[in-house]
Amino acid sequence: MGSATERADVLILGGGFSGLACAVRLAQEGRRVIVLEKSPRAGGRARSWREPGSELDVDNGQHLFMGCYRATRRFLKTIGTEDRLEIYPEVEVDYAEPGGRRDRLSCPSWLPAPLHLAAGLLGLSGVTWREKAGLLAFDQALKALKRGPVPDGVERQTVRQWLTGLGLSRNFQTRFFDPAAIGILNDSPEVASAAGFVQALRVMFFTGRESSRFGLARTGLSELYVDAAREFVEKRGGRVVSGAKAAELIEESGRVRGAVTDQGARYEAEHVVSALPPWDLKKMSLPAALRGPWEELLAAPIVGATLRLDRPVMTERFVGLLGAETHWVFNKTRIHGLNESGQTLSVVISGAHTAVAWSPEKILETTSRDLAACLPEFAQAKVLTAKVVKEPFATLSPVPGAEARRPDPGSGMPGFLFAGDWTRTGLPATIESACVAGETVAERIIRG
Ligand SMILES: Cc1cc2nc3c(=O)[nH]c(=O)nc-3n(C[C@H](O)[C@H](O)[C@H](O)COP(=O)(O)OP(=O)(O)OC[C@H]3O[C@@H](n4cnc5c(N)ncnc54)[C@H](O)[C@@H]3O)c2cc1C
Repeated sequence: MGSATERADVLILGGGFSGLACAVRLAQEGRRVIVLEKSPRAGGRARSWREPGSELDVDNGQHLFMGCYRATRRFLKTIGTEDRLEIYPEVEVDYAEPGGRRDRLSCPSWLPAPLHLAAGLLGLSGVTWREKAGLLAFDQALKALKRGPVPDGVERQTVRQWLTGLGLSRNFQTRFFDPAAIGILNDSPEVASAAGFVQALRVMFFTGRESSRFGLARTGLSELYVDAAREFVEKRGGRVVSGAKAAELIEESGRVRGAVTDQGARYEAEHVVSALPPWDLKKMSLPAALRGPWEELLAAPIVGATLRLDRPVMTERFVGLLGAETHWVFNKTRIHGLNESGQTLSVVISGAHTAVAWSPEKILETTSRDLAACLPEFAQAKVLTAKVVKEPFATLSPVPGAEARRPDPGSGMPGFLFAGDWTRTGLPATIESACVAGETVAERIIRG
């Protein structure tokens, strides 16, 4: 490959949500940006593709958005795709368990936040009134943690320890808090620190009704943001270079000046932003000043499958499965507004440290068994096609101690800034954290 140097105002490593949100904000301000993306297509851990013969784009795993994803929604609005994300007005979650028993969290729309959530929790049928009395201590604890960094004493506890310490019964935890925690944190309550859970819950509970709404993309994830973000950047003179794996940072006189790819292509810029996950960034040849405790951060896997069925088996948009190895099932036919006689489902096993090692056949066997146990109609259905996706490095594993290892977005060294979902945004490492980090870093560069 050529050895000519290409120059930009800002060089961004990584074309996921974070890198693209950063690139778009900078391009909006007239900065020339180059994004280096190692894969043939950008999108990173939130991407989609079309399987031959299918009319549905398959995501690398189902992604749930929230009303409180404000930076994400700003990003989508800027690139003109906000209408591809549907935020539902009602705050409702259905649960199913083996034997077909159902429960529902239904938060009345006429109540302000956080009363609507409290009312929803009080309405759960599988939790006794005595158990629900535990909500008082929970509410007080959360109010005390409403703002600012989560104290070390909470960060050191797992979700299980924190909830149990507040007097919430195991049954209440299993029926509401555990599915929420594993969905948000992608690790089991026994493993995940309470810090990320607190960070997410306080935004959902205390920043307005809109914040606790759920949202899903009506399109594949790449159509939601990747293609439009690339177009936005390229129309303003920037470039998103695919198949360009950054291998080494260029450092001169204590300042990062650019990066070189594994093919020897050289890029120079005033600022270099890393929007790579920690496990990829640490593989690069880096200046010693950038090495640090962040290199010890670990990943948690997610395993998912898209199943095309010969008949509909559920009407809801999504259902949480209680007492099953599969955590959530999403109704892609309804979410994407597909016109099909059967139904397409997307199933998710979060914190899948064990399942990630299973064969696709075993994953399908397990999810099919869970679906048949929880959704009786599934037992009659025929699976026409199935696509299993394993993401061994899906999210940051939010174990106690991880929070202190997350560098602040925008920190780094002269000429170099950390971004990515895993930086310390005050949020769990999610899409919103990725966009907050990308936006924060862009603003820092814009302000100079
Ligand atoms: C299956 C699954 C389900 C999820 N569900 C949810 C959910 O429901 N809600 C939610 O909010 N979040 C969810 N997440 C997390 C969410 O996808 C991530 O938080 C977000 O996409 C991270 O974006 P990012 O830009 O920080 O990192 P990434 O998306 O990882 O982007 C980094 C990019 O850098 C590229 N790269 C790596 N190394 C190099 C290199 N050396 N040179 C150049 N490029 C490189 C990668 O290919 C990648 O494109 C889920 C993740 C997965 C995998």
